[in-house]
Amino acid sequence: MLTEFIEPIQLGKEQKILAGELSLKSFERSRDLLLVAENILHFTWRFDIDQHDQVTALLTLKADLSLECQRCQKPFSYHLDIDIPMKVVRNELEAEALPLALQPLYIDAMGQCESLQVIEDEFILSIPEFPKHEKKDCDLGQNQAYYDTPSNGIEQNTYKPFANLKLLSKEKK
Ligand SMILES: [Zn+2]
Repeated sequence: MLTEFIEPIQLGKEQKILAGELSLKSFERSRDLLLVAENILHFTWRFDIDQHDQVTALLTLKADLSLECQRCQKPFSYHLDIDIPMKVVRNELEAEALPLALQPLYIDAMGQCESLQVIEDEFILSIPEFPKHEKKDCDLGQNQAYYDTPSNGIEQNTYKPFANLKLLSKEKK
């Protein structure tokens, strides 16, 4: 079971697997990115120790999402299925030393991390920034150029759900 605070080092030593389902309704920050927030997020978190004695955690996220097509503004079904390799770090310095392919899994002085927070962060980062139908499935006229999309005129006034995401990616660097 997933508890609010987990102890990755202990979980790594025991090679634990945490798996479960979360309602996307419980995620406040990602709610605006989804058209329907009733979906279920399936997660599996595999903890292990690598050959350098460091704690790794492979997080797998799966969900069927309803996003908004950025060309025609109609719903767009997206099947999310992603593996996120993570490594435990204690501070920014350790995080910066990680190879790009690895996401930092921050633990505090007690060796704990907030599991739901991490899963939500990784979930937000794995949602496509500009979801679009395949051209043949899109409602927008085939010959209509991208800059003619109906959204263009109001774009500047619309809420930009990905502004937070950018910030998040920045923090993670
Ligand atoms: Zn479309």
